Amino acid sequence: MITRMSSLFLRTLREDPADAEVPSHRLLVRAGYVRRVAPGGFSWLPLGLRVLRNIERVVREEMDAIGGQEIQFPALLPREPYEATGRWTEYGDNIFRLKDRKKADYLLGPTHEELFTLTVKGEYSSYKDYPVLLYQVQTKYRDEARPRAGILRGREFLMKDSYSFDLDDDGLANSYQRHRDAYRRMFDRLGLKYVIVSAMAGAMGGSKSEEFLAEAVTGEDTFVRSTESGFAANVEAVVTPVPPAQSIADKPAAQVHHTPDTPTIETLVDFLNKADLGRTFTAADTLKNVLLKTRAPGEDKWELLAVAVPGDREVDMKRLEAALEPRAVAILEEADFVANPFLVKGYIGPKALQDNGVRYLVDPRVVPGTAWVTGADKPDHHVVDLVCGRDFTPDDTIEAAEVREGDPSPDGRGTLVAARGIEIGHIFQLGRKYADAFQLDALGADSKPIRITMGSYGVGVSRLVAVVAEQYHDEQGLVWPREVTPYDLHVVIAGKDDTVREGGERLAGELSGAGLSVLLDDRTATPGVKFADAELVGVPTIVVVGRGLAKGVVEVKDRASGERVEVPVDEVVAHLTSLVRG
Ligand code: ATP
Ligand code: MG
Repeated sequence: MITRMSSLFLRTLREDPADAEVPSHRLLVRAGYVRRVAPGGFSWLPLGLRVLRNIERVVREEMDAIGGQEIQFPALLPREPYEATGRWTEYGDNIFRLKDRKKADYLLGPTHEELFTLTVKGEYSSYKDYPVLLYQVQTKYRDEARPRAGILRGREFLMKDSYSFDLDDDGLANSYQRHRDAYRRMFDRLGLKYVIVSAMAGAMGGSKSEEFLAEAVTGEDTFVRSTESGFAANVEAVVTPVPPAQSIADKPAAQVHHTPDTPTIETLVDFLNKADLGRTFTAADTLKNVLLKTRAPGEDKWELLAVAVPGDREVDMKRLEAALEPRAVAILEEADFVANPFLVKGYIGPKALQDNGVRYLVDPRVVPGTAWVTGADKPDHHVVDLVCGRDFTPDDTIEAAEVREGDPSPDGRGTLVAARGIEIGHIFQLGRKYADAFQLDALGADSKPIRITMGSYGVGVSRLVAVVAEQYHDEQGLVWPREVTPYDLHVVIAGKDDTVREGGERLAGELSGAGLSVLLDDRTATPGVKFADAELVGVPTIVVVGRGLAKGVVEVKDRASGERVEVPVDEVVAHLTSLVRG
């Protein structure tokens, strides 16, 4: 197959697009792969679509290899199934909703658990029908708060989502493992550097979830890994190792101190260390009470919530939000302080919170017997040696404090270091949540119903185009791995005279005849322009037919290494075929 640059629907750009924040976005636009249509909405031009189709092919092959069967749902979905699971409300502003002419509610599917569950329920009834694994490659819609970085975070994007249906927990574990293996094969074939991180703090009990993160400095997800073990986790999923409880008996009584001009942790610690209390204090000895409000999905009323973390750490809003999901969280406004005069800004302590019925959640390091310096609920006053379990009793613990490099690894081996990544896949043991919502049962051998257990598994297919570009590019442009390149070979006719032109055409024809896909630069542009475009477009092998032809050679350039070799014309088809086929 030959595509001629003279007629290809492609205009490359010399300048970077003004709104491009990351290399993949910049290069995919400049090289004419995608064009922006709306915030988070992109059209695929011929080159881009070929890369996208290649990624889809790899994804489909690996899904089929584990027994997945492809089906496809509409993107336009009725409200009712999402109402049944509560997600019509839970999704809040994140879904696109619309009404038809009869004023019935619809949504554009952000993910399809409901539909898959209902479909299996519609078709299957006996235990003999199970297990089953279904998938689709479908356009998803999410009204993302921050569409960014081109196709990395779109509001319309292509996802492979699959769903496993099993009779028991072992079956689910097996389906999950098969997906995990299939995802590794997919991402290995795409040449990606990635890590698998545990995604939820709940991983210990029941449902298990892992994310595949492609390593990228531009990534939005921060993850941590251990310096010594294989432990890697999303920051949201890090479970703080709990220190042993301490004896309360030998703790001094709590004392309130007048601590003028100490509105910050730093000024407070300074003050305490000058106050001659017989010991030195650090920020880690103080307990910072952060006031927030939370709201259940679909409700109007906000509830106060206090979160206490050691004073040397900030509250990490992403961790906090993940811990409180599906409730929404917001910082208190001035009006909230006015409405709750017991909240003495800068001097809030557990006592006033608990006296006023504010839910009080503490960092897991706040174990019984630990003594803290914290607010005394009146201006310019703090209390020292307020002991957990004696002077206050938290309602529960919460994973909200920031995770820092150097923290002990939750598995007890080594310390944590941070890195950034882009989520490319997510595997998740759903359990019976959706089967319960829709009463998906199979009739067992004993005629008793068996509640089905499910998994859901996603791959960001369109995002992967950008992720591969993010890991494979240089200053000159894109550098595609073989598996996804839009063409096997980029043949450049570098010269105006007829022998060169005819030589190029003939070679392209032979390569195409050998089953290779060829992008042929047959334009009248100068060799300089053609070479620059070839580098930008990023086909892994560039074949230059030019002056060398007179002495019977063409030049074969490796796009990634820049290495060039001259190959005799009569050997070049065999040479390139083995290069491409590997
Ligand atoms: P993220 O944390 O990046 O928003 P998510 O947790 O919402 O992802 P899932 O709901 O698990 O993602 O979706 C499965 C996959 O779809 C993700 O692993 C990701 O690769 C991809 N994906 C999710 N949101 C987008 C988006 N807005 N644009 C492109 N791809 C996306
Ligand atoms: Mg998301």
